[in-house]
Amino acid sequence: MIAAMAAMVLLPIEVSDAGWLSDLFKGPSKQAKSAKQAKSPKQAKSPKQAKSPKHVASRKPVTSAKPAASPKRRNVKLAALGPVALPPAALKPVAAACDPSKLRIVLDVGHTAESEGAISARNVSEFVFNLRLAKLIEQKLKAEGFTETRLLLTEGKARRSLFKRVAAANDLRADLFLSIHHDSVPNKFLEDWEFEGKKSHFSDRFSGYSVFVSRNNPDFKTSLSFAELIGKEMKAQGLDYAKQYSQPIMGRHQRPLLNKETGVYRYDELIVLRKTQMPAVLLEAGSIINRDEELKMNSPERREIISSGVTAAVKEFCEPRWAMLGPL
Ligand SMILES: [Zn+2]
Repeated sequence: MIAAMAAMVLLPIEVSDAGWLSDLFKGPSKQAKSAKQAKSPKQAKSPKQAKSPKHVASRKPVTSAKPAASPKRRNVKLAALGPVALPPAALKPVAAACDPSKLRIVLDVGHTAESEGAISARNVSEFVFNLRLAKLIEQKLKAEGFTETRLLLTEGKARRSLFKRVAAANDLRADLFLSIHHDSVPNKFLEDWEFEGKKSHFSDRFSGYSVFVSRNNPDFKTSLSFAELIGKEMKAQGLDYAKQYSQPIMGRHQRPLLNKETGVYRYDELIVLRKTQMPAVLLEAGSIINRDEELKMNSPERREIISSGVTAAVKEFCEPRWAMLGPL
């Protein structure tokens, strides 16, 4: 089934789906590679392998002798050794404390004013939702001391804008890249209704957030750690993730689910995740084609919940982390 899914990725993008997740695609150039990878069961990460930095940051004695999946960032500083009550088999700081005032986070606002992404059940463009939420996340991160947070607004046509945002993030030498989106469904699920006298489309079938990472990102491990933190925080806020991406009914939009607790999926081909030279994650904050969920996504309460969750995830990501390297 995975091979079938990978093969489907080779198909050209349907024009009818443009504006939804599919316009985030890269063309088929690297597909052969990802298809090959997808076939290898060994490489599929189980949820247990996905260590979150929080877990690694534990100062309690741990039995695992595995080095931590620690981010290698340009501006990391070595953490000072922690409290004296450390276990005898010393904990070594491997990557360490990140300074919130130096962590360069790029918040990528999905789509552009010209190429607006999905259209909600009530005919509002995804770009409007993305911008509003990303601005609130930016505000909260800055308030928490992440003063180097940058909102990335891109102009122009969809596909071109993807390379522009990647170039911008790479030029900024960002430490972390988070792309903000709102979800829709493949066209085959759309149903008709009338909203304010206008023929409109909806699908109440699916709902929820989802988090995506690409194994083709140069730092997949750290990307995954950050994605797990975001998923964990969304869950802690009482939100459910979108289950449909793991189901065959999604056809070529089906994705490997990396963690069935947190809702982290693999989506290797996404340009913004694989061309960025820093850990990168894409968050679909919720569905705007689902009529009930659109109303929620449009509420200040839901924006508050999601932006707080993302901020908490970044804070955890930035905490000092420790790893057991065995006896010195
Ligand atoms: Zn989008």
